[in-house]
Amino acid sequence: MVVDDDPLVPSIAKAFFTSQGVKTCDLASNGEEAMQLFNQCDGRYDFILCDISMPRLDGIQLIATLARARYAGWVGIISSQHPTLCRTALNIAESYGMRTAGIARKPLEQAMLGKFLKTISEGNGRISPAARALSNMSPEDIHNAINEDRVVPFYQPIVELHSGLIAGAEALARIRGPEGNIIPPAAFIDVAEQNGLLEPLTRNLFNAVLRDVQRLNCVHPNLNMAINWDPKLLERHSLPDELKQACDTWGISPTQITLEITETTAFEASATILQVLVRLRIKGFGVAVDDYGTGYSNLDRLARMPFSKLKIDQSFVRKAGEDSFSMAGVETAIRLARELSMPTVAEGVEDEKLWQMMRACGASLAQGYLMSRPLPIDQFIDWGNAIGWRFELPSAMAAGAA
Ligand code: C2E
Ligand code: CA
Ligand code: CA
Repeated sequence: MVVDDDPLVPSIAKAFFTSQGVKTCDLASNGEEAMQLFNQCDGRYDFILCDISMPRLDGIQLIATLARARYAGWVGIISSQHPTLCRTALNIAESYGMRTAGIARKPLEQAMLGKFLKTISEGNGRISPAARALSNMSPEDIHNAINEDRVVPFYQPIVELHSGLIAGAEALARIRGPEGNIIPPAAFIDVAEQNGLLEPLTRNLFNAVLRDVQRLNCVHPNLNMAINWDPKLLERHSLPDELKQACDTWGISPTQITLEITETTAFEASATILQVLVRLRIKGFGVAVDDYGTGYSNLDRLARMPFSKLKIDQSFVRKAGEDSFSMAGVETAIRLARELSMPTVAEGVEDEKLWQMMRACGASLAQGYLMSRPLPIDQFIDWGNAIGWRFELPSAMAAGAA
């Protein structure tokens, strides 16, 4: 949906989006009209592109109203307002859990509209509603996958920026489909969560990860393995003992395991969650703040939670080379983590330039497509063995070979 009181913008945008294969593109000339359209179709929009200054419900009010209507899709800004204002509008959308596709300045250029589509279609790893709508699994299919042990971890390496040494990996859930196809988490994590299946899925995955860590320890001991843990699954006093027991069964030290908890929800932590986190830490588990920068935590809030690591959200890292706001976000996160003596992981390091930038601004570890995409365990082991468990930049290797 495109929302702008300037009639030219919606018609240009619609013509462009339709030419690029977008099936439907609704137009509204102010926030009120936009909300009417939104409510008529139960909010089934993937992307809402809006102006900031409009009569009757401006862009900022529209974003807040969309948030109350639980919209969690993509938002883009099109405006002739000062860039700082536009950026703040996007920050507000992000703080409500929406995905942001960027800012287009007026006069509108096709290139910018193309960039919106590219950002949305690539996603940035996290679950976009567009991806969700494409191929959601049914709760029954997920249930069967859990019972048939078809939930499998893929491993993405996490590398020390100063040495290139492979410090560990993040285990990312995949489901092996009945035909052997690999289904990404965007198609099942939300459904699992909404149907009470995230707990059995995560347990299943946790066991698979422990089994793989046991195997890894024979090849290259002491890698640290991170696994995503939904905050709702922390509301359980017995969790630290259960996880410790599972580790004992596989002969794994909890110090090799880190639970990653998304920033947004982690900070509404209840007394139970706090106790569970502290007891996990006492038992030796690591606990990382995931997607840092997408919520609203400040130093104060962070300091009150027993985190051992901070993962900077890839939306900041990937844009750090292009815009100063993102770079400032990265720097602030690193400074904050330093105050709290926590190492930082820069997620979304896709090229050498970003690697160099993250290293220069003092991030401790990097994760991203530059090193490797997430891999099944066999390929992960082959990848590590092939490089002697130390990552070298492609340019350094080329120079070495020359
Ligand atoms: P996440 O925890 O932020 O995981 C990182 C995601 O970013 C992964 O997507 C990874 O493939 C992707 N990624 C890594 N490096 C790059 C890069 O350089 N560029 C780009 N564009 N993307 C990169 P994936 O595997 O599709 O996972 C998506 C999300 O699904 C995860 O985001 C996490 O929130 C959720 N998820 C995955 N597994 C689990 C799980 O077992 N439990 C729960 N609760 N959530 C999970
Ligand atoms: Ca994660
Ligand atoms: Ca993350």
